[in-house]
Amino acid sequence: MFRDPVAVAVRALEVELAGGARADLEPSVETLGALLLEREARLRALEREQPERELLAAIPDAAGLLARDGRIRAANTALERLGPGGRAIGLTVLELTRSAELAEAARRALEGTAKRLELDLARRTWQVHLAPLVRGEVLVLLRDVTDTRMVEATRRDFVANASHELRTPVTAIAGAAETLLAGAIDDPAQARVFVDIVARNAERLAQLTRDLLDLSRIESRQWPIHLEAVDVSAVAAKALDACAEAARRKRTELRCEVAPGLHVRADPRALEQVLVNLIDNAVKYTPEGSHATVSADVEDGAVTVAVQDDGPGIDRRHIQRIFERFYRVDPGRARGAGGTGLGLAIVKHLVQAQGGEVGVESGRAGTRFWVRLARVEAAGP
Ligand code: ADP
Repeated sequence: MFRDPVAVAVRALEVELAGGARADLEPSVETLGALLLEREARLRALEREQPERELLAAIPDAAGLLARDGRIRAANTALERLGPGGRAIGLTVLELTRSAELAEAARRALEGTAKRLELDLARRTWQVHLAPLVRGEVLVLLRDVTDTRMVEATRRDFVANASHELRTPVTAIAGAAETLLAGAIDDPAQARVFVDIVARNAERLAQLTRDLLDLSRIESRQWPIHLEAVDVSAVAAKALDACAEAARRKRTELRCEVAPGLHVRADPRALEQVLVNLIDNAVKYTPEGSHATVSADVEDGAVTVAVQDDGPGIDRRHIQRIFERFYRVDPGRARGAGGTGLGLAIVKHLVQAQGGEVGVESGRAGTRFWVRLARVEAAGP
């Protein structure tokens, strides 16, 4: 008669456990038992590690646990991503990061010494925290501080640049005043020269502080941007008007090629400031008798407003950095032209605050700065 081997085994085990003879089990039943035991153990381990894993997943940094043997026993996705092939578990710190400094710190942490350090890995800067835990393991935390460090460096550069820019006119004013006091004031011709130096540099200081204030207001969102439907031709006309006197002095011909009735979503005051800065540059950085044209073209739902000149153009190596604060192609010439090096930084910030894009193309035929803004049908409410 056919007998179910499991039923036979169950019966034999019941007898054994009731004090009877030792059950003689079929090999397949033995294997089944071993597999069930293994599955049970695995489920238990999973249950034990579950809170640990949830905790690691909730940490916003790259985080993991270093076991006593120096290998990573648990890791969140951010830490896994740092490993070769996107895998971190089972690796030593050296295998994971290729950093001998970090491997040494991990070794010390496994001996019980908490460690904090900052290092560069995969072209980013990380703040690492190694915290020994009670059961001899180590919690590894890696925080990506690349952006913070970059912001700090930019701020440091900015303060250094601003101080340098302010010092130049202040030195000139102090020098001229001293010369006047030392006697030049009594010679009308000389006095005029030095008072003129004072006046020009005071104007430079005023321009610089105006630009710095504008920039800081835009960056800290204190320059209120109210987006509305703005008639491009009307704003372009106002901006051209504001630059007319400077253009006349340099015999620069200003042209407007903006079709009337074209509207963009913008802040009229901000857009005017953007165009004034661009037209002003087209006058300042081109030779006498040049031309500057403001145009507007429609392209899938957007309007590209451009200021084109026929000046000497901007060399390719400068184009990348041209919108940075205080960046000048030729510092001496730009200062002479009354530039602060902030005009294009203000343009970029104002355009971005209006949800637009800004760019530049330059070659031997001249320079074309463009601003792309969302097109709207007509003046709304
Ligand atoms: P600034 O306020 O000193 O004019 P910007 O930020 O407006 O500074 O411009 C930065 C630099 O870009 C200028 O110093 C100048 O060298 C260059 N530049 C800007 N516009 C033009 C242009 N239309 N043609 C040639 N060079 C330009």
